[in-house]
Amino acid sequence: MQPENALRRRLLIAGAAGLAAATAVPGTAHARDADVVEPDIDGTAAWGARSPQGTISVLRYRPSRIVIHHTVSTNSTDFSRAQAHAHAHWVQDLHLDKNGWVDTGYHFLVSRGGWITEGRHGSLRALTGGTAFVLGSHTSGQNDQAVGIACEGAYHAGAVPPDAQWEVLVTLCAYACAQYGIPSAQIHGHKDYGSTLCPGVYHDMLPRLRDEVAAARSA
Ligand SMILES: [Zn+2]
Repeated sequence: MQPENALRRRLLIAGAAGLAAATAVPGTAHARDADVVEPDIDGTAAWGARSPQGTISVLRYRPSRIVIHHTVSTNSTDFSRAQAHAHAHWVQDLHLDKNGWVDTGYHFLVSRGGWITEGRHGSLRALTGGTAFVLGSHTSGQNDQAVGIACEGAYHAGAVPPDAQWEVLVTLCAYACAQYGIPSAQIHGHKDYGSTLCPGVYHDMLPRLRDEVAAARSA
């Protein structure tokens, strides 16, 4: 399955990178981040999220890294947008009702079909602005430093991520790195920060993820 569903829009990143691209000498490599794809992300209103159970803290600085997770949900073969929304609800219900958190712990979720949903309220607006992010609940010791991106599914027992999910994860990470000025080397997995199997095989794929994100940013 091709990931066009989340890749409909392109934009020129404003600011120094865009200016550098505009003045680049013809025939030279494009400036980094000049043409990073802005993925379509379904915000909390689009998937009908419940209201947060309390106040979400907005951190007025940029995160310094990305931490990848898996949600240990069923490895659904339903690759629809509706399933992505159902998965977003499943995660939010778990985090609100079982964990007692203020909202979904992750900032963003990537479905097995390649649809991106906003997790914690405010994450999308903050990412689009590129100067702030909201305090998450996803990785002990990293919640005020890292963007938490969770992949639908369970990948600790041999399951292989669908191509659509992989491609959109690369796109989302490239966009987040561009917006926040995060080096691709600063994409990590949950198990780098604690005793967990999360994010399963995605952890083994981190070197490839960093490489493909770096390539997306300099294409
Ligand atoms: Zn995790």
